[in-house]
Amino acid sequence: MQYYSTQNPQGKTVSLKEAVLKGLPDDNGLFMPQKISRLSARYFEQTNQLSFEEMAWEIVSSWEIDEDIPAPILRNLLHHALNFDAPLVDLDPQTGVLELFHGNTLAFKDFGARFMAQLMAYWVDKSHKHLHILVATSGDTGSAVAHGFLGVPNISVTVLYPSGKVSNRQEKQFTTLGQNITALEVAGTFDDCQRLVKQAFLDTELNQKMWLSSANSINIARLIPQIFYYFRAYAQAKKHKKPVVFVVPSGNFGNLTAGLFAKKMGMPIHQFVAATNLNDIVPAYLQSGIFAPRPSIPTISNAMDVGNPSNFARMADLYANDLAQMQQDLVGYAFNDDQTREAIVEVYKKYNYIIEPHGAVGYLAWQQYKAAHSIDAYGVILGTAHPIKFPEAVEPLINQTLPLPEKLQNLMEKPKLSIPLQADFQEFKQFLLNLSHTIKN
Ligand SMILES: *Cc1c(COP(=O)(O)O)cnc(C)c1O
Repeated sequence: MQYYSTQNPQGKTVSLKEAVLKGLPDDNGLFMPQKISRLSARYFEQTNQLSFEEMAWEIVSSWEIDEDIPAPILRNLLHHALNFDAPLVDLDPQTGVLELFHGNTLAFKDFGARFMAQLMAYWVDKSHKHLHILVATSGDTGSAVAHGFLGVPNISVTVLYPSGKVSNRQEKQFTTLGQNITALEVAGTFDDCQRLVKQAFLDTELNQKMWLSSANSINIARLIPQIFYYFRAYAQAKKHKKPVVFVVPSGNFGNLTAGLFAKKMGMPIHQFVAATNLNDIVPAYLQSGIFAPRPSIPTISNAMDVGNPSNFARMADLYANDLAQMQQDLVGYAFNDDQTREAIVEVYKKYNYIIEPHGAVGYLAWQQYKAAHSIDAYGVILGTAHPIKFPEAVEPLINQTLPLPEKLQNLMEKPKLSIPLQADFQEFKQFLLNLSHTIKN
């Protein structure tokens, strides 16, 4: 299968290998698959009989990934990438939380990062060159990517994060690892970090001297494995015999885009709900038809503090820029921090379930959706992170201290190794050039 750029759908296409290793097309668009094949309705009737790995295999086959990676290696890679499950936990007969946080770094991004690291490791190993991964993070991406690539030979990772804008525990997860992982603490916002990374990819000199790639949700390799858990969720939700609505707490909209891919593959999804905090660019677009990025606003659901959601280009492409078509599949709601806090308390009191701020925004959106639509549907709220990742927000609201899982406890005791950086491209570029020298020598 070939991949085109959203900037130029009729233009040059590339293989999966090139799309994954480059991350971004030269024209600054995003890679999209040239076709998305539909699986049969029969397939979806039987999905509850398949294991998670079997489902994933069906998806990668449909995406023809076995053209790029020999099938036995690909199977092994899936086995490695899917070392944890995505259980659907019922809150009530109409509501479930899809717990995507049972991986290494306790957030859904582990799915994408592990799969992508495995793919890249396979290709880099064959090339005998050194690959530099650049990743801007607003919280969880950095840790998932860092853990995914930790110790992978011939690949180094540089994580850029906004100073003071990620939680202490998030920060520890990607600043304490050492080895092939470097963390840059940027005096600026997430948008600054993202801009620096984008600028690096467009810089001729850097690209001549170094082999650069991205690992943000803009990389298509992150999105493919996220389709897996929509299938997994559907297989579990089917028993309710209701139309299924997916509620996706969103920032850069990679997670939601993966859901739209699942729908394109024929999965019988009634609708999607895009749930955001005050960074409501996409809900506002769904109302007005105007896509108006703006600087991000800090909130307690900080992994969704994105003022210019990059995957919107893919969403627009999937619907050929037709707002009315998109509105049929997608509804958007936005909430502020006070509402989010109230939702955390409500979910705890009503269901004795501890939800963290991102999931709580999803919960609010599901309530609003139900109030606005008379359909008797089953809502799957994507539980994007474990509550232990956001103790500052969660613990005072539920009046208890959450026990720290052992894998986090170990990291908390290690020193932070990050390097401070101004939000300045020349400084960033110099850092990268120096890094490339150290690695070559
Ligand atoms: C990254 C993240 C999100 C947003 O996901 P996108 O794919 O960027 O929309 C939501 N919640 C948590 C906990 C995250 O880490």
